[in-house]
Amino acid sequence: MATELELDHDAAPARVAPDAGVRPHIPVAAPVFAGREKEYVADCMESGWVSSGGKYVELFEAAFAEFCGVRHAIACCNGTAALHVALAALGVGPGDEVIVPTLTFVATANAVTYCGARPIFVDSEPATWNLDPEQVEAKITPRTKGVVAVHLYGHPAEMDELRGVARRHGLFLLEDAAEAHGALYKGRPAGSLGDAAAFSFYGNKIIATGEGGMVTTDDDSLAARVRLLRGQGMDPERRYWFPVVGYNYRMMNLPAAIGLAQLERADWHTGRRREVAAGYMRLLRGIPRLRWQDESEWARHAYWMFTVILGCESPVGRDALMARLAERGVETRPVFYPVHLLPPYREAARGEEFPVAESLARHGLSLPTWAGLSHAELNYVCESLRESLSEAGEK
Ligand SMILES: *Cc1c(COP(=O)(O)O)cnc(C)c1O
Repeated sequence: MATELELDHDAAPARVAPDAGVRPHIPVAAPVFAGREKEYVADCMESGWVSSGGKYVELFEAAFAEFCGVRHAIACCNGTAALHVALAALGVGPGDEVIVPTLTFVATANAVTYCGARPIFVDSEPATWNLDPEQVEAKITPRTKGVVAVHLYGHPAEMDELRGVARRHGLFLLEDAAEAHGALYKGRPAGSLGDAAAFSFYGNKIIATGEGGMVTTDDDSLAARVRLLRGQGMDPERRYWFPVVGYNYRMMNLPAAIGLAQLERADWHTGRRREVAAGYMRLLRGIPRLRWQDESEWARHAYWMFTVILGCESPVGRDALMARLAERGVETRPVFYPVHLLPPYREAARGEEFPVAESLARHGLSLPTWAGLSHAELNYVCESLRESLSEAGEK
């Protein structure tokens, strides 16, 4: 378990302690580079291998495959590219439909659009905030090719039920695990729960490399296809021979070096996030009309973002609450806009309602959640939240 001393590591971002008499600034997310990141990056520079040819890409892929308990991990330049190349390798093309949750980061739907296919939106389950398997089944048509299950904010989706639906209808099941490194579903790791999975290592994610992504799968031929498409489509047996139109989605050696060092301390990163979430649940319990994404008994939540929902009778609205917290130096972020409300997708989803996702989006905000958040900062965030709510007569 982490100690206070570990948290004061000099690699953590500089910030003002809440008790220093100066207004603090507590970011909603921040990476912590407290392992061998600098050493490995220096090694890349000294070796001259900075682009995708160096040794760290393979080392990071092997370590990540082990982390997820799968045979293959294929590193990409970012999480969106990982999603796109996974969908392309699964055979998604023009005219196809792919079922996605409307409550997700826009990249889930965009990756489907890049393939020339259409994302078909489904509402969230009130318990997990993830894809509702029954509604997935109701949306299947002869054009449906597969389903993308997002583990929103780090809570796994109901994968057994979704796999059942996918199997009955001959569909693929892809995990968007961009927010779920280290999450478990019935004891099995995110990244090993579908036909393939895509991860992100963007700077605010649980394992961070700046920009970066990964596809994981147990399927040998799918893995080969992802590798082919990731590297411009170049034939692995015949240099500069391109049997297909591929993409330049390779990961550089530099972020792979950072990722390997992050992964060596994966238990610390995931453990600290769970401590932060446990702290929030302890300190916020008892505030009327405030709830959060409960951890299902079959799940280990990865707590990418500890996200709270204000009851709709709350006298202070979500945006006003965020503004008050910002005045106190506490950065928060709203729950994603459901994708069906965004301009590129509004037209296609016209008329349809997604009440659970819309309500979560209207009333939800994510609190600072990252592995380096100190106990003092956590207390300060919770106190600020209480004060901000009670100023409006909320007791
Ligand atoms: C971050 C994220 C992505 C995209 O990852 P990038 O590395 O930023 O391209 C995709 N899906 C979800 C759910 C995400 O949170």
